[in-house]
Amino acid sequence: MAVSSTPARPEAPTAPVARAPRRPRGEGQWALGHREPLNANERIKKDDDPLNVRARIENIYAHGGFASIDPQDLRGRFRWWGLYTQRKAGIDGGRTAVLEPHELEDEFFMLRVRVDGGQLTLDQLRVVADISREFARDTADITDRQNIQYHWIRVEDMPEIWRRLESVGLQTTEACGDCPRIVLGSPVAGVAEAELLDPTPALEEIVRRYVGDKRFSNLPRKFKTSISWLVDTPYEANDIAFLGVDHPEHGPGFDVWVGGGLSTNPMLAKRLGVWVPLTEVPDVWAGVVGIFRDYGYRRLRNRARLKFLVADWGVEKFREVLEKEYLGRTLLDGPAPELPAKPVDHIGVHRQRDGRAYVGAAPVVGRVSGTQLARLADVVEAHGSGRVRLTPYQKLLVLDVPPERTGSLVAELSTIGLEARPSAWRRGTMACTGIEFCKLAIVETKARGEELVARLEERLRDFDADISIHLNGCPNACARTQVADIGLKGQLVVGPDGRQVEGFQVHLGGGLGMAQGQTAGFGRKLRGLKTTADELPEYVERLARRYLASRTEGE
Ligand code: SF4
Repeated sequence: MAVSSTPARPEAPTAPVARAPRRPRGEGQWALGHREPLNANERIKKDDDPLNVRARIENIYAHGGFASIDPQDLRGRFRWWGLYTQRKAGIDGGRTAVLEPHELEDEFFMLRVRVDGGQLTLDQLRVVADISREFARDTADITDRQNIQYHWIRVEDMPEIWRRLESVGLQTTEACGDCPRIVLGSPVAGVAEAELLDPTPALEEIVRRYVGDKRFSNLPRKFKTSISWLVDTPYEANDIAFLGVDHPEHGPGFDVWVGGGLSTNPMLAKRLGVWVPLTEVPDVWAGVVGIFRDYGYRRLRNRARLKFLVADWGVEKFREVLEKEYLGRTLLDGPAPELPAKPVDHIGVHRQRDGRAYVGAAPVVGRVSGTQLARLADVVEAHGSGRVRLTPYQKLLVLDVPPERTGSLVAELSTIGLEARPSAWRRGTMACTGIEFCKLAIVETKARGEELVARLEERLRDFDADISIHLNGCPNACARTQVADIGLKGQLVVGPDGRQVEGFQVHLGGGLGMAQGQTAGFGRKLRGLKTTADELPEYVERLARRYLASRTEGE
């Protein structure tokens, strides 16, 4: 057979089609010239500053009722005044993802009242309680961000509700929305023996200067702040946190953390490595919010939190931009704060630095009523105190109690459902709003949480370890799923008869504020580990018993 000695010529490669170099897709960052909205939320904010909706509520919607509300105001701008439509009763979690927003909501609202730093006077507490009873069907949950959250609010009542709240210095301004939300603060600011510097003046200054300020009312997403001397707020889960630190040369001031946030893609805040004196906290805060406004990502809502920018830039670049472009000066390097073995929740009776006492008490999963709060105000006054604080763990404190009256206070709090000596279960369990009122929910949380606590108190009354159990009604992390000993993320699971039922995915072993030495961590998401909601109490009981049987000494 003849064989060609000439090898076949390989085919000439096709010449590549000349293409213009691909430009990186913009993230909608204003500072890089992207001013055209890239999604519907950005469009709503650009079309009209959301703060402007207050006038329309007072002048138009309060008179015209629910049906008169422009949908873009209803599901967009209302949030800047603390208002969300609430979930229509009777819609199961399986339909959450398939129904249109208007099919999920009824004509009532959830209303969030910001209580910055959790600080309430007796007058304020009484007004909060009265509004609950008159306008909110006696609802007044304490949220894990120190807000009060009402349900069943009608738009017609908003002008009167604002009038009453504002008459005692409370507000709903920017309680929700893409703006600076409530500022978390230590519930014992100004009274704790261990506190070297009370951050309250900085917290108040931030609220006074910047809440309701249109320079910061259009951020890419919500912006969360925490300011405390002690580790008694979930500071690493905030966009910015100021945590007390004693500088060897400059004295007490604050260490700054940026870029924390849970929800999907959870990230813990990172230290900038700077030391900031109390008087400069508001300026540094405004600089960081400015970076977020100008450089924050505005293309995809689920990549818009500050944490994504911090992750992409790194803290060195972030600090450099802050110093050069926003503050015009360099910040002092600072030491890392000493972190305790676990976060402090202040439950029980404790001495204040002025010799009086504060008493921390627990409702169950933050659920309280206006009636309860009104009775609380009477009890507090009768014990010589005029101040109450809400905590970011859905609990409350009574300050300034004469030491000889603490026993009587503890007993009276108990009669109104607030336990200063709660079981480990009541103390450590938190729950988000869930399917009762939240349009995004898949499962019930508050009632499940109450049932869980009752069952565990009955079956494991003497459980002697600290334990945190956080119930969330959907993959969002409003009750901080990932940082609990037992984090429960609501979802549909397959029940015993093969049908889909309410249940939870389980995260185990998370912790904020140092759980592992000086490093906080997220719970391990155990993919296969799910429980139906009905089986939850048994499931937690089994876990707890196994833990008791196998824990090592000192654990
Ligand atoms: Fe609603 Fe989900 Fe947040 Fe719970 S975690 S309040 S269900 S969005």
